[in-house]
Amino acid sequence: MSTCTRCDGDGGWNEISEEPDYKTCPSCDGYGKVDTANSPDYDAFIPCTGCEGSGEVEKSQPKKIKTWIECEKCQGTGKD
Ligand SMILES: [Zn+2]
Ligand SMILES: [Zn+2]
Repeated sequence: MSTCTRCDGDGGWNEISEEPDYKTCPSCDGYGKVDTANSPDYDAFIPCTGCEGSGEVEKSQPKKIKTWIECEKCQGTGKD
């Protein structure tokens, strides 16, 4: 038995992947729609153009997801 050369004895490694992150739309406060100007009519809501009606907008920084990949050479033991 010696230290696994593939994972350097760690038994695996972290794989970083990125996926889009979202925040509440500042234009509509998360409602997805905005009131049209000064109208008392409740039907005057239109879909928010900032978030296209979803209430959320994508952040400029994607979310980083860490996934532990178990070394297949030593099956996570770190020893070869
Ligand atoms: Zn919005
Ligand atoms: Zn290994």
